Amino acid sequence: MTLMTGAQYIASLRKLNTRVYMFGKKIDNWVDHPIIRPSINCVAATYDLAHDPQYEDLMTATSSLTGHKINRFTHLHQSPDDLVKKVKMQRLLGQKTASCFQRCVGMDSFNAVYSTTYEIDQAHGTHYHENFKKFLIMVQDQDLTVDGAMTDPKGDRSKAPHEQSDPDMYVHVVERRPDGIVVCGAKCHQTGSVNSHWHIFMPTIAMHEADKDWAVSFSCPTDAEGLYMIYGRQSCDTRKLEGTPIDVGNVRYGGQEALVVLDHVFIPNEYIFLNGEYEFAGTMVERFAGYHRQSYGGCKVGVGDVVIGAAALAAEYNGVEKASHIKDKLIEMTHLNETLYCCGLACSCQGKMTKAGNCQIDLLLANVCKQNVTRFPYEIVRLAEDIAGGLMVTMPSQKDFESNTPVGRRGETISEICNKFFKTREDVSTEDRQRVLRFLENMCLGAAAVGYRTESMHGAGSPQAQRIMIQRQGNIEGKKELAKDIAGIKNKK
Ligand code: SF4
Ligand code: FE
Repeated sequence: MTLMTGAQYIASLRKLNTRVYMFGKKIDNWVDHPIIRPSINCVAATYDLAHDPQYEDLMTATSSLTGHKINRFTHLHQSPDDLVKKVKMQRLLGQKTASCFQRCVGMDSFNAVYSTTYEIDQAHGTHYHENFKKFLIMVQDQDLTVDGAMTDPKGDRSKAPHEQSDPDMYVHVVERRPDGIVVCGAKCHQTGSVNSHWHIFMPTIAMHEADKDWAVSFSCPTDAEGLYMIYGRQSCDTRKLEGTPIDVGNVRYGGQEALVVLDHVFIPNEYIFLNGEYEFAGTMVERFAGYHRQSYGGCKVGVGDVVIGAAALAAEYNGVEKASHIKDKLIEMTHLNETLYCCGLACSCQGKMTKAGNCQIDLLLANVCKQNVTRFPYEIVRLAEDIAGGLMVTMPSQKDFESNTPVGRRGETISEICNKFFKTREDVSTEDRQRVLRFLENMCLGAAAVGYRTESMHGAGSPQAQRIMIQRQGNIEGKKELAKDIAGIKNKK
């Protein structure tokens, strides 16, 4: 019943027996690993900010299940206002970390699974909703981080789960026992998987009767017997091993993705939320994806704020901040970024209550939000690179800027030569110039570009997934009727 601090969260991870592999080896002390630690720091920020009185209203909420004060990342949204606060919280965290802070996938799965299990129970007389409520009360009271895991490897994408030559291409039940099920399979590019306490697994596509064994959802501890992860590498990740923080760009924070493998993991009945009721697989997917597409109207906007700020600083450091084209580019970046925020807020304000009693985003607007996210951060990054100049990708290393090795005819060191030729305005240190350009490099094409660029494209579903939802939700028939009415067309066809 306590809100953990960041330090308590990190200490709690040390108690887990999580199995992590990277560069072909098992990583025993993964909590302190320099490649992994920035992503842990990022989740720790979701705990620390909840203790800051100025952010209390955004970062905490009152549990609808217990009445206890909880971290908003474990909350079931009770109103459109809660949905708006969620987006604002995500923008705040994006601003503070300039990274993917990972904890949203759990929050989005809580809200999707809560409403879906209620409807499954109504249709089938099952007890998944009670199972889920008990699980969520534990999560809320212990302030746990949970990874919402959805994306299966999918194998041959022209085939349904039961048609795959390898049944593990989608997570599935391999054995049913009186006390639970045994599951096999994997989930790809799972955000925040390694540093979560628990996982919630959900199907990744709508399913039919023949896919019954693949229509499964459950939770399990991250260190459950048979569960392990293979860490996903990121562009320039080994810079974090070089001991040169300036070259890393964002040394404190980062995102994290991994392949999560389930090798005959036993799931007791009380942690099962879907088990064969295949017609609800699609509902769960649609709801989780909808919430996560809303999320991007918050987190990417916060990260965008930092990118815009860094581009403005780079312009200032180069002495070009007064040029009209620079000002115009910053206006364009701001316009694009705030448009994404508008989308995140709009789908929240239009939220509706589900049968289970939590509040769900407007699905059409959430999909429009994410569709814009697949485009605008790319343009924002393009403009940031334009403003930053080529030095962002050609500058020598921090070690050169610090090297005492003599290099010039007059005995100057590499450091002196670098500092001489990369000097800019009198009132700006060369080190600050290095820092801002390396930060932009990190955001535009380094490790953080995972979170700001490619994740903007594929996270929460690739662009085509949103277009399908926009088509479904767009009500073209209703719009045709509007046109007929105004144009005086009586024909019913
Ligand atoms: Fe949260 Fe954004 Fe990361 Fe998704 S991509 S987990 S919404 S920070
Ligand atoms: Fe994501």
